[in-house]
Amino acid sequence: MKDCLFCKIIAGEIPSTKVYEDEYVYAFRDIQPQAPIHILVIPKKHLASLNAVSDASDTELAACLRAVSRIAAQEKLENGYRVISNCGPDACQSVQHLHFHILGGRQLSEQMA
Ligand code: AMP
Repeated sequence: MKDCLFCKIIAGEIPSTKVYEDEYVYAFRDIQPQAPIHILVIPKKHLASLNAVSDASDTELAACLRAVSRIAAQEKLENGYRVISNCGPDACQSVQHLHFHILGGRQLSEQMA
């Protein structure tokens, strides 16, 4: 997608700190981390949000979740972590390319919202 920030990151047109990549998924450190470990996992296929997952194959979607657990192990998050996907204005989604935040590295709040 031409004007999508995360598509540009996947293409290497905008720099990022890569932590994981496979055929379907790219993952990189969030530029404004909200926890000691804050990683974004994104499908390489442009999907605007969770509301667009019907445009993706089961393989593409499963790859995102498999990447999450691989990255958690790689980052030594054995004590736990949180995965969030903000979808739409009420959730304050700011980048319109599906992404999963992995947050960890400290005790997280009991509050999720
Ligand atoms: P959301 O608000 O759920 O759409 O999350 C978008 C996330 O993208 C935010 O946590 C931003 O800090 C992060 N972000 C925006 N631009 C960049 C960038 N160039 N590199 C890494 N993370 C970014």
